[in-house]
Parts: sequence; structure tokens; C-alpha cells
Amino acid sequence: MSKGEDKRQIIFDKYKTNLNLLIDNGFIKGCKDFYLCPICLRPHQDINADDPLTLEDAPPKSLGGTANTLTCKSCNNTAGHKIDFHLTERLREIDSAKFIHGTETIVKVNINGETFQGKITVAEDGTMTMFHSNKNNHSEKLEKTMQQLKGGNIVDMNFLKSRVIPENLEYALLKTGYIMTFEKFGYSLVLDNCFDIVREQLKKPEERIYPDNFWFSPPYPKTMQGVYFLCDKGLECLIALFNLDTGNTERMFGTLLPLPINPISDVITNLNTKFKNEGSEIALTLYPLEQDNMKYLDNIDELKAMTDWLDKRKNHR
Ligand SMILES: [Zn+2]
Repeated sequence: MSKGEDKRQIIFDKYKTNLNLLIDNGFIKGCKDFYLCPICLRPHQDINADDPLTLEDAPPKSLGGTANTLTCKSCNNTAGHKIDFHLTERLREIDSAKFIHGTETIVKVNINGETFQGKITVAEDGTMTMFHSNKNNHSEKLEKTMQQLKGGNIVDMNFLKSRVIPENLEYALLKTGYIMTFEKFGYSLVLDNCFDIVREQLKKPEERIYPDNFWFSPPYPKTMQGVYFLCDKGLECLIALFNLDTGNTERMFGTLLPLPINPISDVITNLNTKFKNEGSEIALTLYPLEQDNMKYLDNIDELKAMTDWLDKRKNHR
């Protein structure tokens, strides 16, 4: 068994055990001994069956994430190029636009009426160097123009049009929060219908399904990473906080995810109103029972305490 296969088997067994525990204790109904892909909920009997289970990184691997869950190969591929790509690409663009040391930016340059493609790199001392390669340009024209180019010539520079679709970038943040929720709580929360809207969005990035304004970029330290319950009345939801690292810069992001108490669209509206009225420093209350190392995957008492708390909140709406 290869190292990757070993890791996949360990994850498979961990979440299969979680699903069995939930079924045995009457939390959910269903068939035992399966792993359900968190994105499409399709059951898998083993890691290598039809449309095999692949390692899923949350946050994306290119932004410093690690693989702790599995998704179907097809779900993983679709999300990878339709969703995650746009987030990684956008954060790199922001790095380049600020001309951060170590970054490379492709630009179009207009010199004496001729357009060439070039690359700008930024050195440690902040010096920007521009390269024109013969490969991407008409080499004779480039050479001639370079010979004619004297100091004082006006050079127009245009950044190549971005390949990033802004909505898909947002869905990548949503996906990271969702996969982190699954990683921490297993099937106890995500199988609720209130998460259908999340899964629908991840499966259909061409269509806007999830409400606007569900993500933010808080100035929290990296150590705050994790998934938390927000339990103020009317604001009950999950907040997933995570750090994205391009290799040049790091930023914290937060996404709001549903709980089976209020519709997530109402929660997002209420929270945004609160921010507008009270400014950026608003007090929010986190789940009172929450402590480090809560074992929601395999400890039935801690799981029960959490679901009891949720039920109480649901009934006292
Ligand atoms: Zn799937």
C-alpha cells in the first residue's frame, strides 16, 4: 500500500466509524460501513471503488492547506479547476499588484506602437526588472525595438486581463469552510438539510445560490483558525476561520455556514446589519461548551451535548 493510499484508508475508516456511531445512536438513519463524499453525499464502500476517493485539502494545498478528508475524484477535479483555482490565482494577483518580493507578473507593453509581452519580477531590494522573451514575442521586431529604445521613451504597460471569476473565488472560501466543518464535526452537522444550499453551490459554480456577503477577512491571528459556533439570538451559525498562505503573504478569512436554527440567508442579513449599525468591533458570543480538543467524531457524550444544545436553541427560537 502506498503512503497516499495509507492516508486515504485512515481517513476513510475514521469517518466511516463516525457515520456508524451516529447511526447506532439514532442521530441519523442510513446504511452502515460507508464513507459519504461531503460534496455529493454519494456513498463509497471502499477508497478505490468507481470514482475513487481522493485526498481533499482545506484550505487548498497551494495556499498552505493539508489533506484531512476525502472527496470523489470527480468532485475534487470539478472543485479544483472551477473553484479553488480562482482563489489561488486571485491571491497571487494581489501579491503581484503590490509588487511583493518573489512575485512574477505578466504584462503587455506598448513600445513605439508595437505590443510585446513581458514579465516583471521583484527582487529583495524592491527593484523591478522586466523581461521580454523571444519565445512570446516576434523576436526580430523585439530586437529592433529594443535597439531603438532610448531613455525617456514612453512605455505603456497593461496587465493581462485576469482569468479570475470573482464569484468562483468566493465559492472557494465557502468550500474551505464547509470541508473544515466536515473535518471537525464529521456527519453530525453537514447531513442536515440546511447544508444543501452549500453543496448545491459547490456543485454549480456557474449559478449564484449561496447568499452574498458570507465571507470576510478578519485581522485575527493565525492561532484562531478553526470552526466556531456563533450563538447570539438570530445570528446562530458556524464561523470557519482559516489562514491562506501564498508563499509571499498570509491572510485570514472567515466564512459563515448554516446551523439548523435559522436560515443562513437571515443570519447573514442580520449580521451585516449589526456590522453596519455597530461598527467593526461587535461582540459575538461563541458556543459556551466549546473547548479545545472536543471529540465530535468519536465521543458520544460530547456529540450529544452539542446536539442537545442545538435542539434547545431550535425550540426557543
Ligand atoms: Zn462527490
